[in-house]
Amino acid sequence: MTKEEPLPSRVPRAVRVASLLSEGEELSGDDAEDEDDHDYEGIPNGGWPTSGLNPPLHGLIPDLPSHSMDELPGGSTPITPVIKAGWLDKNPPQGSYIYQKRWVRLDADYLRYFDSNKDAYSKRFVPVAGICRVAAIGDQKFEVITNNRTFAFRAESDVERNEWMQVLQQAVAEQRGHVRLSRASVLGVQVPEQPDRAGSLELRGFKNKLYVAVVGDKVQLYKNLEEFHLGIGITFIDMNVGNVKEVDRRSFDLTTPYRIFSFSADSELEKEQWLEAMQGAIAEALSTSEVAERIWAVAANRFCADCGAPQPDWASINLCVVICKRCAGEHRGLGAGVSKVRSLKMDRKVWTETLIQLFLQLGNGPGNHFWAANVPPSEALQPSSSPGARRYHLEAKYREGKYRRYHPLFGNQEELDKALCAAVTTTDLAETQALLGCGAGVSCFSGDLAAPTPLALAEQAGQTLQMEFLRNNQSTEVPRLDPVKPLEKHYSVILPTVSHSGFLYKTASAGKPLQDRRAREEFSRRWCVLSDGVLSYFENERAVTPNGEIRASEIVCLAVSPLDTHGFEHTFEVYTEGERLYLFGLENAELAQEWVKCIAKAFVPPLAEDLLARDFERLGRLPYKAGLSLQQAQEGWFALAGSELRAVFPEGPWEEPLQLRRLQELSIQGDSENQVLVLVERRRTLYLQGERRLDFMGWLAAIQKAAASLGDTLSEQQLGDSDIPVIVYRCVDYITQCGLTSEGIYRKCGQTSKTQRLLESLRQDARSVHLKEGEQHVDDVSSALKRFLRDLPDGLFTRAQRLAWLEASEIEDEEEKISRYRELFVHLPPVNRATVKALISHLYCVQCFSDTNQMNTHNLAIVFGPTLFQTDGQDYKAGKVVEDLINHYVVVFSVDEEELRKQREEVTAIVKMRVAGTASGTQHAGDFICTVYLEEKKVETEQHVKIPASMTAEELALEILDRRNVSIREKDYWTCFEVNEKEEAERPLHYAEKVLPIVHGLGIDSHLVVKKYQSMESMLLYLASRVGDTKHGMMKFREDRSLLGLGLPSGGFHDRYFILNSSCLRLYKEVRSQRPWSGAPETSHRPEKEWPVKSLKVYLGVKKKLRPPTCWGFTVVHETEKHEKQQWYLCCDTQMELREWFATFLSVQHDGLVWPSEPSRVSRAVPEVRMGSVSLIPLRGSENEMRRSVAAFTADPLSLLRHV
Ligand SMILES: [Zn+2]
Repeated sequence: MTKEEPLPSRVPRAVRVASLLSEGEELSGDDAEDEDDHDYEGIPNGGWPTSGLNPPLHGLIPDLPSHSMDELPGGSTPITPVIKAGWLDKNPPQGSYIYQKRWVRLDADYLRYFDSNKDAYSKRFVPVAGICRVAAIGDQKFEVITNNRTFAFRAESDVERNEWMQVLQQAVAEQRGHVRLSRASVLGVQVPEQPDRAGSLELRGFKNKLYVAVVGDKVQLYKNLEEFHLGIGITFIDMNVGNVKEVDRRSFDLTTPYRIFSFSADSELEKEQWLEAMQGAIAEALSTSEVAERIWAVAANRFCADCGAPQPDWASINLCVVICKRCAGEHRGLGAGVSKVRSLKMDRKVWTETLIQLFLQLGNGPGNHFWAANVPPSEALQPSSSPGARRYHLEAKYREGKYRRYHPLFGNQEELDKALCAAVTTTDLAETQALLGCGAGVSCFSGDLAAPTPLALAEQAGQTLQMEFLRNNQSTEVPRLDPVKPLEKHYSVILPTVSHSGFLYKTASAGKPLQDRRAREEFSRRWCVLSDGVLSYFENERAVTPNGEIRASEIVCLAVSPLDTHGFEHTFEVYTEGERLYLFGLENAELAQEWVKCIAKAFVPPLAEDLLARDFERLGRLPYKAGLSLQQAQEGWFALAGSELRAVFPEGPWEEPLQLRRLQELSIQGDSENQVLVLVERRRTLYLQGERRLDFMGWLAAIQKAAASLGDTLSEQQLGDSDIPVIVYRCVDYITQCGLTSEGIYRKCGQTSKTQRLLESLRQDARSVHLKEGEQHVDDVSSALKRFLRDLPDGLFTRAQRLAWLEASEIEDEEEKISRYRELFVHLPPVNRATVKALISHLYCVQCFSDTNQMNTHNLAIVFGPTLFQTDGQDYKAGKVVEDLINHYVVVFSVDEEELRKQREEVTAIVKMRVAGTASGTQHAGDFICTVYLEEKKVETEQHVKIPASMTAEELALEILDRRNVSIREKDYWTCFEVNEKEEAERPLHYAEKVLPIVHGLGIDSHLVVKKYQSMESMLLYLASRVGDTKHGMMKFREDRSLLGLGLPSGGFHDRYFILNSSCLRLYKEVRSQRPWSGAPETSHRPEKEWPVKSLKVYLGVKKKLRPPTCWGFTVVHETEKHEKQQWYLCCDTQMELREWFATFLSVQHDGLVWPSEPSRVSRAVPEVRMGSVSLIPLRGSENEMRRSVAAFTADPLSLLRHV
């Protein structure tokens, strides 16, 4: 080996510049190279930057003593030693006279030249086998001549030139010798290895597409297809140092320690295929021949058991034979039930010492002695046999057992089993093989309870090789001459280790949820094999190397799509831990179901196998919190079927499935990195955490869908806490609040179109419909309720019982009649029962106001009789039933004291308010009754207040204080707050704000509370003392961005510069310079965001799930003209800062009037009643959760002040 040390002083300047490029930086893609030899000499910076680890040093300091790439491990062909390397002048490209310095390197296979000796990737490679001649051409020059190209080089001296020529000629001669000896040659011409994949790809830095080939463990780059055929390329990448990673829909990176190759394919599908091919090359590069060498130690194993090809590096581990790559492909096609194919070189984990020993003992010799005892010469295989012949032979040999040596006991099952039980206790593996191959039952009963199976007997006898052999054959099908061979159905029996194979249609895997329908053309037919916890998919049933595989242990979710979601009738999705989604499809329902079952079995642990008992739409594991263990999330197993979510938790039971349509709450909390789906049902709360985004999104959508109503019947509706359909509850609640005093309520009809629209939205998702006064007329709502009840497919009293109810109304004896009603009531289905009771209870309330609304019991009965019994109104009995039920409401429905008391109070409150309203002369139908709390939210502080449209926040506060006899002292800044429990934020209402619109806008998580505003004093001081009416400064900012339309917040808090003036709040990303004369930072950019200040609502507090960096935060809500809500979170460094910002907001929003100047309030001399103090917290979850919330909330400035 003559290797020359590089002379750094001779390194051309231009080459150095090339090295300055860092990894991934764009190379000039100028293709203006010479046409003589089609190399890339003409490209400035055409060299591959090599200095991935330390770019600046390598590039800037030419004299840096660094080792050349020839010595770097893995830098290039590490196995092939370098024969000679050195600097040569390469002849100039056309049109130029300047020779170019090139680092030229020769090994046994390739002549390559590089920009420098530090480059890993050549500018050109010429296979030695393709060199025809090497000739001297004077002036220390020589030519390397191939069939189509001539490369000319100039050495420093004649001696140097001669040395190069000599080593080149020698290498060419040796290569030819090899070729002649090689069996892979045809007529002395080496057959090039077929690429696993070849085609055009864009490579960043090149203007034109390159032709790329994945061959064995290498990725080769060619200028075009023609050069690919000539074998002369740009460079190749040894995949032992490669890594591939997708970048986006069409792009992917091939990363090596020396360079990143950024490729783009024409389509997502092609990208997927390239990724798969390159991953295959990596696997091949990382394979070792250690196992193969050991197994080849036995002579018979050195040739394929089936075709005789030398050096077979594949094996069937159940048949225990060593086979070549081409036969392995056909074995694969037999299905895992016949042959379990493994690579000697790549499946390293499979090859335990025991398995290797088994192959040394059994292997091809005994294997063929049994399986190939009677092969007619005409059916024998050759290494060159066609795929068809191979398939026929292997089907006959292993599936049908056509050539096998029949055991004397063949056909006598009992004797075969007995013989097997005897054989497994000995070392006679060949006998075991013969018995199994002739139909002995691998799991037959031995008759010995202590060791009931052959496996147990072998274990008892200490026969580890027998055990290994039996284990590998647990699921092997017995060969039969008349096999049932339905097309595309190569099942194996499903045993504890799930194995399954067959064709599936598959799309390219995706990194995001599938939103569009995938057309049939987007699916590719793949031979899929599920075996030993791996789902592999192959180009076809004969392919040896899988296009890809999914480990069952990495599957996190399996979802069955509704019929015809995509181009195939039956499709299912497999989600992996690595956030990939695989879509499979089939036309045949049975086959699809079988696959789903098998995949489910393969990835669900025994702990959760109960979940498999029922058909599921979605199955998988998710981190969750539930019950008492809220500290740390654990992984649970979930199955969604219909509207039931079943769960299996490692820590204790969750006895009942969660009924999604009965959820009290279904909400999404947290930020995009840490989303939590909160499901509240009665007293149970389940938090599902979205650690992985992809499958969580799927769960989210599926659960939301499952929680919606299913159909039109009563029990298919979303149900509330006490089995009352949410749709009924919503309407009844609204009428109670707004319609009790409305004349002709339930008799008058609403507008048909409005009623229709309302009912539609209620039917779709009643839980999300919040009826608001002003938006809905009470008559529209009452009509919607009547329409809903009237349209119930089975009626409220059910078809079965309807007549019985009607007949009961005719019973003359009052007591007997009531007891009959009670009896019938008990026999109603639960949801009907709850609904009847709730409705009659409501009607009972309505008739209490009959002097105003004119709807006494009789009138209500006239309206509701036909509605509930779905009659035409002629049958007076229907009305009679309703009238009876209202009149005997307490007895029929066993209303207990407590219930009655509450209801009476409610009615009393309403009546009182009505009277008060009438007295003051301002009463009109539709006044809103609202619950307002004093100081904190609890039952004792509740006040029901009628809110007239004109009421201001100040009036409301005074009314509450009045009612509670609370005196107002100086500097008591009593204020009405809108508290949003979910957002953990509150907003002091401006004294002049109208309350009614706010009350209408309150969600279920919000309430009003009247309390002292402790910061007001210092805010007023600040406003009085400040100069100017703007404020600017840094705050920490976080945006609530909509994600997939779910309104999920994302991102973290970042420093931003804000300017708040009388018209808007502006956000600047950065502050460029400081104006020395004004002291105000100049923001040289336009604002990143700008919001009109008057349309903002500013809440104090930031919900803790967002991890605000300080406790001095506020939440800004901006409602756009389209009524879309956007939320921003801002955090100040100090409490003072927070007060100043807030005061400025108040001031600019209300033109400087922050607090009423009139001392009118300080007139009441009533002693103050303090109502206690509890922090503002969300009242959800367990006691522990609450305590932690309280702890977190004590950091809130408001709660601190509350105790001052
Ligand atoms: Zn073979």
